[in-house]
Amino acid sequence: MKFYNGIFIKRRISGKYCPLCGREMRKYRRTRRLELYKCSCGVIIDKHVASCYNAIIWTVNKYFPELLPRVKEKIRESIGKDPYTA
Ligand SMILES: [Zn+2]
Repeated sequence: MKFYNGIFIKRRISGKYCPLCGREMRKYRRTRRLELYKCSCGVIIDKHVASCYNAIIWTVNKYFPELLPRVKEKIRESIGKDPYTA
């Protein structure tokens, strides 16, 4: 693999923690395609989706901390549009 003007970070990010409030979520429901977890703040989210959001939050927090409030706001909006939170 070649990288140009970039960095490569290998890190495990868990999907068991809520991307919005950071608390540990509990197993909620499992379908063929989704592993839904529920947070005590009301979020219901697939754990793989949650781990993607958590990876974004981790990266932004480390390298662009000033953007974190806006990124979290966008994630909140995006989760709000997800049918599994309805
Ligand atoms: Zn939460």
